[in-house]
Amino acid sequence: MTKQTHSPAAAPKVGIVSLGCPKALVDSERILTKLRSEGYEISGSYDGADVVLVNTCGFLDSAKAESLEAIGEAIKENGKVIVTGCLGKEESLIRQNHPNVLAVTGPHQYEQVVSAVHEVVPPRHDPYLDVVPPQGLRLTPRHYAYLKISEGCNNRCTFCIIPSIRGDLVSRPANMVLAEAEALVKAGVKEILVVSQDTSAYGMDTRYAESKWKGRQVRAKFIDLARELGDLGAWIRLHYVYPYPHVDEVIGLMAEGKVLPYLDIPFQHAAPNVLKAMKRPANTDKVLDRIKMWRQGCPDLTLRSTFIVGFPGETEQDFQYLLDWLTEAQIDRLGCFKYEPVEGAPANEIPGAVPKEVQEERWNRLMAHQQEISAKRFATKIGREMDVLIDEVDEEGAVGRSWADAPEIDGAVYLNDEFKVKPGDMVRVKIEEADEYDLWGSVIR
Ligand code: SF4
Repeated sequence: MTKQTHSPAAAPKVGIVSLGCPKALVDSERILTKLRSEGYEISGSYDGADVVLVNTCGFLDSAKAESLEAIGEAIKENGKVIVTGCLGKEESLIRQNHPNVLAVTGPHQYEQVVSAVHEVVPPRHDPYLDVVPPQGLRLTPRHYAYLKISEGCNNRCTFCIIPSIRGDLVSRPANMVLAEAEALVKAGVKEILVVSQDTSAYGMDTRYAESKWKGRQVRAKFIDLARELGDLGAWIRLHYVYPYPHVDEVIGLMAEGKVLPYLDIPFQHAAPNVLKAMKRPANTDKVLDRIKMWRQGCPDLTLRSTFIVGFPGETEQDFQYLLDWLTEAQIDRLGCFKYEPVEGAPANEIPGAVPKEVQEERWNRLMAHQQEISAKRFATKIGREMDVLIDEVDEEGAVGRSWADAPEIDGAVYLNDEFKVKPGDMVRVKIEEADEYDLWGSVIR
């Protein structure tokens, strides 16, 4: 028996010049770790490298000068240079001095750097070494997956400590997001749930930087990303969107069937003074008009939202305003929380703490109010036909979801005594019954 061997092609080599503080050094290590895990080798000399990374410092003028000098030396010695790090924030200064640098990225933009390296010298594919499937390892069932498009958040909602833990918005390059989404669809994923802290703000931090995807330049922008994702042939569900004017554009994609007509918008409240105290993004009195306009453009649009009752300073009048607003807005799916003072949240300093029993009473009233709205909206679905993605089959039959139901947080479509389907199947269903959370129906054959 002959022993099977393989002789991999020479691994691509990356050189690195790391300047600046210990934080920059950690960034360099992270970038190299990622590249090494992809099969790149690290070169100790300029002439042995296929590309050279210069991780710069821009803290003081002397550090900037040193960084510019290091970039110049790398260009002279090697020619193929990617700049990253703190001086990367001053791209025009770098390009003025060194017009031939191949790419410039800022501090902590690991994915952008790795993506730039891929463009100059692609990673070697080695089926013997690539133990992780291209779509990565996932914790969700095979047929749906979460797709994270950014980290951090530029908003400063007073009840939230996420920005202080995760920092400001850092968007992933569009081509990295799309490559991940495409790999998921190829691996059998039928539904992609787009998540981040503020999906509508995607790309604001990179000024909507373009990246190359299938020979085209694609902007890291909410609408462009939604359009590209919509072309992959899976259900695309958008979570954590804020009602900024630019969100209007996505309604057209929903009406065309490219993106699911579903928006998860955490409104949190409706009363103007509570929203102001919460410092919520996209807080304008035009939101109700915007919702009406969206529904005119896409009548099937499902709106999911979360609300907080008992926020410090919330009066009975504010709460009543919220109930009236819900009647007008006709939100389809709703989650409600009682305000909790998270340690470190600025909202804890706002006077007018709402007693626990009042919070409880408002929570009950809001849920009852919403149940009436949801029950009426769901009743209109009886008799309709819709696509349902099967999540599970148990002894009572199959359970799936329509466009209006995100996994884990929304309701379901129950197909009692249906055993001929399996998880991941997409079936056409006629709806026969509804309550305020769920639907019941039968497969059309
Ligand atoms: S609640 Fe959301 S939008 Fe507001 S600061 Fe926190 S993460 Fe950002």
